[in-house]
Amino acid sequence: MAVRMAEAYDVVVIGSGTGGYSCALRSAQLGKRVALVERDGRLGGTCLLRGCIPTKALLRSAEVLDTVNRAEEWGVKASGSPDWDAVKAFEERMVDKLVTGLTSLIKARKVDVVQGTAALRSGASVSVDGRDLSATDVVVATGSSPKLLPGVSVTERIITSDQALTYPSIPSSAVVIGAGAVGLEFASLYRSFGADVTVLEALPRIAPLEDEEISKEIGRAFRKRGIQAFAGAHVQGIDEVGDAVRVVYDVGGESKSVTADVCLVAVGRGPVTEGLGVDQAGVELDRGFVKVDGQLQTTAPHVWAVGDVAATPLQLAHVAFTEGIAVAERIAGIQVPEIDYTGIPRVTYCTPEVASVGLTEAQAVERGHEVDVEKLNFQAIGKANIVGEGGIVKVVAGKAGGPVLGVHMVGPHVTDLIAEAMLITNWEAVPAEVAALIHPHPTLSEAIGEAHLALAGKPLHTA
Ligand code: NAD
Repeated sequence: MAVRMAEAYDVVVIGSGTGGYSCALRSAQLGKRVALVERDGRLGGTCLLRGCIPTKALLRSAEVLDTVNRAEEWGVKASGSPDWDAVKAFEERMVDKLVTGLTSLIKARKVDVVQGTAALRSGASVSVDGRDLSATDVVVATGSSPKLLPGVSVTERIITSDQALTYPSIPSSAVVIGAGAVGLEFASLYRSFGADVTVLEALPRIAPLEDEEISKEIGRAFRKRGIQAFAGAHVQGIDEVGDAVRVVYDVGGESKSVTADVCLVAVGRGPVTEGLGVDQAGVELDRGFVKVDGQLQTTAPHVWAVGDVAATPLQLAHVAFTEGIAVAERIAGIQVPEIDYTGIPRVTYCTPEVASVGLTEAQAVERGHEVDVEKLNFQAIGKANIVGEGGIVKVVAGKAGGPVLGVHMVGPHVTDLIAEAMLITNWEAVPAEVAALIHPHPTLSEAIGEAHLALAGKPLHTA
């Protein structure tokens, strides 16, 4: 036999991020012999090593600091300041703990980890630094990396989220370019740690993918926190000037500039396909991302793509989990319906938090729905007053008692509260059904309950 048994796998997964490891774990669970190829020294990919987990650890430190500095509001005398090295040590501890857990799980499921850089070969096989692995199916899960603006490169002061996580100091001022999830989270974080923050977003509003009223609400909240956010701002140039960085931009036809300690470029993430050998394998790209059909199959037989590298609508860790698991099951011959990306919740961990699921009001109208909309202010909710944070819950539903089409929130713990809204929208509940269910009092979850009570025509704590 040409291929040694040790090198023959049912499934070879390239990349150990959320898309890759979920696919490897599920494939192993389904009885497949699996190799997981990773070039990094540690498993986990962007989410564990450079994305979700380290940033949420930093944001937790920021939240603690905010709470300590507002302690008097709750009758407690305290004040705090960040110890950046200790904050980073906490971040590292969280990453290490989760990477260790994942590594053990991968081992326990008997997935072979192959360290190295994989390239696709024709037919479903892979070469890892010259070593050939044959497979019945190959899954590309190589992820994404931060994009930069044309002509701009990373320096000591011009950074992306990758450098921000290990930056040697807390900047005293920062310009954040891009007001998507990364931009909003870092703007919030820097502000909590005491920096003067300016956000520049090219599109007409910040958080441009969210419902318009959510953009307005987060804009108001950021202004209240002293964050300057400009939408419709077109960056003309970024230069290091002495020990600062200057960003020149155009807003409403007027040229302006802002100077700061650092400039964080958060204008999106691009696919990682360099050196992957896509041409040789017959894997076509779509604007750089790996082209897939509704089943996540690429243009090459038995080659699949999941996670950020795949040309699917959302680059999110939980989307990657969903895609990875779906592909593992399809490879094992299980029928899995296509993923409905509209039903996937979106969460941003700035202060205040932002979370949404389903259609925005504008999208619902565009798709021909006649809608009823309820906007509930968190001030109507007792627990939110005690917690000391405001915000809104906006529910978009089909007219006259039709199903809930979307839920959009800004406010305390909405990144957790969205889980209920996910069930409501995906199960196509109507407001009267949700209104008939009892939310515990006093909790933040009442905001969702009360919004549905109002939509069902029987508001309790609102007019
Ligand atoms: P993004 O695409 O969400 O946002 C980038 C923003 O930059 C956009 O609003 C875009 O209009 C703006 N932009 C682009 N070019 C610009 C320019 N020249 N000047 C000013 N603004 C410009 O990308 P991101 O925030 O970098 O995040 C990358 C991916 O990672 C996204 O898919 C995001 O959802 C995901 N992510 C998710 C979370 C989370 O779920 N909490 C956190 C971080 C990142």
